Amino acid sequence: MPHDLPKAYDPTAIEDHWAEYWVHEKLFAQPAPHEEERLDGKSFSILLPPPNVTGRLHMGHMLNQTEMDILTRWHRMRGDRALWLPGTDHAGIATQMMVERQLVAEGASRQKLGREAFVKRVWEWRCHYGGAILNQMKRLGASVDWDREYFTMDARLSVAVREAFVRLYEQGLIYRGAYIVNWCPRCQTAISDLEVVYDEHKGHLWEVRYPVLGPDGKDSGEFLTIATTRPETMLGDVAVAIHPEDERYTHLHGKKLRLPLMNREIPVILDEWVSREFGTGAVKVTPAHDPNDFALGERHHLPSINVMDDTAHINENGGKYAGLDRFVARKEIVEELTEQGLLVGVKDHVHNVGHCDRCKTIVEPRLSTQWFVKIQPLADKAIAAVKPDAQGNKAIRFVPEMYEKTYLNWMENIHDWCISRQLWWGHRIPAWHCAVCRKITVARQDPAKCAHCGSEQITQETDVLDTWFSSGLLPVSVFGWPNITAENRADFDTFYPTSLLVTGFDILFFWVARMIMLGCWFSTDVPLQDGSPRRLSESVPFREVYIHALVRDANREKMSKTKGNVIDPIEIVKQYGTDAVRFTLASMASPGTDIAFNVARTEGYRAFANKIWNAARFIFMNVDKAAEAGITIDRSTLGGMPTLTPGALLEERWIVAELNVAAGKVNQALENYRFDDAASAIYQFFWGSFCDWYLEIVKLRLDFTQNHGSARIRASLTTLVSVFEAALRLLSPIMPFLSEELWQAVYDDNAPAKSIALSSYPQARLDALDYAASYQMEAIQRLIVEVRALRKEIGVDEKLPIPIKLDISHHPSPFEVRVLESEGLTQHQFGLSVDASSLQQILELNKAIIQRLGKVSEMVFSSEPLSGPNKRSSRDFDLEIVYERTIDVAAERERLTREIAKYEKGLANAERQLGNEAFLSKAPAHVVEGLKKQDLETRILLEKAREALKNLPPL
Ligand SMILES: [Zn+2]
Ligand SMILES: [Zn+2]
Repeated sequence: MPHDLPKAYDPTAIEDHWAEYWVHEKLFAQPAPHEEERLDGKSFSILLPPPNVTGRLHMGHMLNQTEMDILTRWHRMRGDRALWLPGTDHAGIATQMMVERQLVAEGASRQKLGREAFVKRVWEWRCHYGGAILNQMKRLGASVDWDREYFTMDARLSVAVREAFVRLYEQGLIYRGAYIVNWCPRCQTAISDLEVVYDEHKGHLWEVRYPVLGPDGKDSGEFLTIATTRPETMLGDVAVAIHPEDERYTHLHGKKLRLPLMNREIPVILDEWVSREFGTGAVKVTPAHDPNDFALGERHHLPSINVMDDTAHINENGGKYAGLDRFVARKEIVEELTEQGLLVGVKDHVHNVGHCDRCKTIVEPRLSTQWFVKIQPLADKAIAAVKPDAQGNKAIRFVPEMYEKTYLNWMENIHDWCISRQLWWGHRIPAWHCAVCRKITVARQDPAKCAHCGSEQITQETDVLDTWFSSGLLPVSVFGWPNITAENRADFDTFYPTSLLVTGFDILFFWVARMIMLGCWFSTDVPLQDGSPRRLSESVPFREVYIHALVRDANREKMSKTKGNVIDPIEIVKQYGTDAVRFTLASMASPGTDIAFNVARTEGYRAFANKIWNAARFIFMNVDKAAEAGITIDRSTLGGMPTLTPGALLEERWIVAELNVAAGKVNQALENYRFDDAASAIYQFFWGSFCDWYLEIVKLRLDFTQNHGSARIRASLTTLVSVFEAALRLLSPIMPFLSEELWQAVYDDNAPAKSIALSSYPQARLDALDYAASYQMEAIQRLIVEVRALRKEIGVDEKLPIPIKLDISHHPSPFEVRVLESEGLTQHQFGLSVDASSLQQILELNKAIIQRLGKVSEMVFSSEPLSGPNKRSSRDFDLEIVYERTIDVAAERERLTREIAKYEKGLANAERQLGNEAFLSKAPAHVVEGLKKQDLETRILLEKAREALKNLPPL
């Protein structure tokens, strides 16, 4: 063994090394299976939600990736064919903005450069700086298959994007049309509803009089007053709408108005959508700049007049205001209306204003020609995939379940999906416009002429596709769709549907919903392996969706740059190591619970890692010592669950049982995404059972100076090493670096696998549970805990061995222990009573352990009640330390008085509860039983304390 582990645990030193090794050795590569091996074993596949190519790792990623890595490592170690597939998204707007900013700094611009040169420039940027986040992932040890890394604009994936577009177009599910979109004048593109953030805004409601025209077509002297928050849009008004039953305006039915400033004749129209209560009850109608007005315009067959250009400046349709920025025009229009006496009121008005999520510019609802996906029947299929079928089965399960409702509610109210973006960076739409016949040619291969009239005067559509269109296809495209042939389909057969998606709530609609729609739609292309058609349950892109929580700061505040409370995971990793950060996140991660990230906890888990490190050093030192004495351990026991040899000692039986219980808990917790429970079970086992108790007891057996016999040392060391080795495997998914370093050392760099990640995960065995060992150890532990507490209370020197006396025969209730049972994957506890003579026997048999861990020189069982001064009573026994001490009578009196008060309070509480009829009628029988027993015990302790107080010598 390379037992020269450095004295101090230094995470950086070991983590850099292993991170590089895992990548270099391609340990997590999962190549497409060969024909003959594709059906053996279970597969576990998971896609990394592709971070933006411009991205940097933040705490949300760190949590998301820690969870995915734990699950992938766990499945891999359980023998599943595990694949975690990484990649980055080309991130249209974000990446284009990044490069545009660079250009501006150089005094250039996207427009000056031209489309082709600009796109080339973005590719260069991507080659030099893109994907930094994946390098961060490599350093953090993410166990992904780097050989499969993709970029959403790769040629291979672009083929899928093009096929999907053409196919939907051919199926009549893609159309081009004019529609009101959210337009960002800065990014100069349409953005999705989901990319608009609404902020409350203090604005105004302007009331403007529109002159009513008489039968002669001239102003009649009457006015109809409308109210608006965006007066500049009136340049595009085509009507004013009133409610048909609004009695104030009945006489205006069929009348015409003069649109001020533009002097255009517009009709008064009747529509029940108009609210009589809002403003004046008369609404100006601007179909080109408001979604509701657009709908109104469609209903009444009104024209649409777009008065703004791409940069939100007034265009030629805006008369003399043409060329003005929208807000400058607003000011001038209000001034002119005032001059003409047409502005009758200005009211303060608080309303929600949409901003572009990327650049924070106020979004302008604006009519533009866009490409859309007709959402039915895609949405219906995506709904069926999540709703339970007739047998109650769901093709996709959401965890936590509440997100199922959120998803369904959104999907049931979904509108056609606008998939075009007016950007240069992205998948350019494969549609060509003909200058001659004006028709559109959509094709898989770039066409040379118009498919309708044969003209060569065709130009490609300038729009690109929404990035969610390409990322929505990932679950099928990464496994080779649309080019699935008999030869290459093993990958698709093995890994599609993927097992799981782990993601944040924020992209539930953006991405999760799109993947479900597109996955269910296109995967039906690929029949099942036996040739039968793919049913819905096999068409879905993933079988489960785990929506993880938010990472907040230690005060449960949302992290934000403006608040300055953002925690950079890389900084914390530098300080405490990746393993400690991973353990912190895991220890707080459970479905539906946000994480309050506290660095103090990370510090604690670094100490935990350190504790394990020190345990390893102790173990290796003893293995070396034994080797010098010619004793070698039995290595055949390593790698599985430790087994016991005949004549195994109590602590050996106990620790093996404890390991099995812990393994049962961890496996069960991970099945249920209870990362917190898994972490807690490992922590308690490793720190508590293994380090604090077992290692201390084992020291008794490893005394090479005394002649215990080499067989005993060999057996003890063998169990010690094999339990440690298994515990490292149990820990490995959460702390992969530390466990790798120590595991390789256990095997003296001659491990049976290239990595602990490729070894097998500990599985609980029911027959390894040893109730007798469990309760015997519990009895010993309780005594030692009491002895330690009493020593401390009396002030006995830590190193001084002292004799103790025990009285268990005069104890009111039999010794009761709780034994953990791990039945398959569920555990429960049950009580077990041990009578006094058995208890005495257990303690006597294990006297050596009690003597060593409690620093006890001699242990005597008394048949008389204990009479010495240094006593302590517990539920199970009375304990006395035989020790001459100068009693501080005053202090002892105070202590006993305190104790008496405590017992009296406890009794009062118990009696109140036991006297409460309402409580008694509701509480389960065993709770009431427990209370009664506790009541009795407290009474006895109280009596003893009173007695001791009475017997104190006077001051
Ligand atoms: Zn923007
Ligand atoms: Zn044509």
